[in-house]
Amino acid sequence: MSKVLIIGAGGVGRVVTYKCAQHPEVFSEIVLASRTQSKCDDIVADVKRDTGHSKIQTARVDADNVPELVQLIRKIQPKIVIHVALPYQDLTIMDACLETGVHYLDTANYEPKDEAKFEYSWQWAYQDRFKEKGLLAVLGCGFDPGVTSIFTARAAKHHFDEIHYLDIVDCNAGDHGKAFATNFNPEINIREITQKGRYYENGKWVETEPHEISKMLTYPGIGPKNSYLIYHEELESLVKNFPTLKRARFWMTFGEEYLTHLRVIQNIGMARIDPVKYKGVDIIPLEFLKAVLPDPGELGENYTGQTSIGCRIRGVKDGRERTYYIWNNCSHEAAFKETGAQGVSYTTGVPAMLGAMMVLTGKWAGQGVFNVEEFNPDPFLDQLGPMGLPWEEKFDVGLEVD
Ligand code: NDP
Repeated sequence: MSKVLIIGAGGVGRVVTYKCAQHPEVFSEIVLASRTQSKCDDIVADVKRDTGHSKIQTARVDADNVPELVQLIRKIQPKIVIHVALPYQDLTIMDACLETGVHYLDTANYEPKDEAKFEYSWQWAYQDRFKEKGLLAVLGCGFDPGVTSIFTARAAKHHFDEIHYLDIVDCNAGDHGKAFATNFNPEINIREITQKGRYYENGKWVETEPHEISKMLTYPGIGPKNSYLIYHEELESLVKNFPTLKRARFWMTFGEEYLTHLRVIQNIGMARIDPVKYKGVDIIPLEFLKAVLPDPGELGENYTGQTSIGCRIRGVKDGRERTYYIWNNCSHEAAFKETGAQGVSYTTGVPAMLGAMMVLTGKWAGQGVFNVEEFNPDPFLDQLGPMGLPWEEKFDVGLEVD
């Protein structure tokens, strides 16, 4: 029985609040805090109505402000903070957790606001401080990073002596009926996918132009989809934690229409993150674009189709080469029916809740800063299906990624 503080009232925060409330035996008291308290109130009204959990409160907090966070955490006294606001707030929330003696969990690694660059170095630098305080910081516990990292850990633990080739494949075959929208925070999403591609091979990182490499990959229950090699944050920790990897890549599907919009957005300067003067005021074009794009949290209602995200792995077991594919498919409609959020928020929010549950029930323990693949994958994957994200695995199949 533990109290949890969830920070961030977007699509992911909605799902995390729903899923925590469905498990009062672990999350006996819940507080949802965000910059705009009315958004927390709206979510909590729905969650209370649908789950019957009565001990849920809301609060307002500016998570860029450490003293404000410390004050809130001291008042609430949670066992863990689930951070599902934006990656810009990772370090301030980690600082506040250290100051108040509370465990920390997030779903995306830190990136500075004025530079489109994300990497773990900033958060890994907290290792000694979390260790000294006897606290646990769980990094990247969404779907990717998150479940994909735990799928890889399962492969390494149970099915291979050495994993050599890892291809993470992420397909969203959903249709939200809008000409252009992003499935999670547009600012973070556009920064991520307009950067150069990067993959790991033979001990080195190889850089590509954005979307330079593509392949037709077949996704279970969906069919063939053009998939583009992009850089994704879990590659950084996976190659460190699984040093037998000779190559690690990440593929994501994009439709032609989506890529055309993205190209136009970039070409006309709307993806810029440096300030420009408009009528005497400094504005950041990408922040302005976010204000006019559909809110990802509102996409759910007419969203059809499903996501399919998994890992395709080649390596050796008992001296023999083998292949392995492990994945989850998630229906946007089913996610919306249960939580009022679309599938991308759902596939992120369920693992965030489950990771917190692993910490609170002592199944994941330790002191310091950990990426999720460093924990035992078994108790997490045992529960992932029952919690809403069933997964499947296949052995010795063609992987299409040679
Ligand atoms: P949204 O933009 O929908 O929600 C973000 C929320 O954070 C908003 O409620 C926003 O408040 C709040 N927020 C922003 N800044 C602050 C601040 N300074 N203080 C307090 N609250 C703040 O994002 P999503 O829900 O789509 O995504 C949430 C997180 O999940 C992101 O970090 C994203 O990168 C991550 N993610 C991870 C995935 C994974 O698989 N690992 C996949 C998808 C997302 P306001 O409403 O006032 O703007």
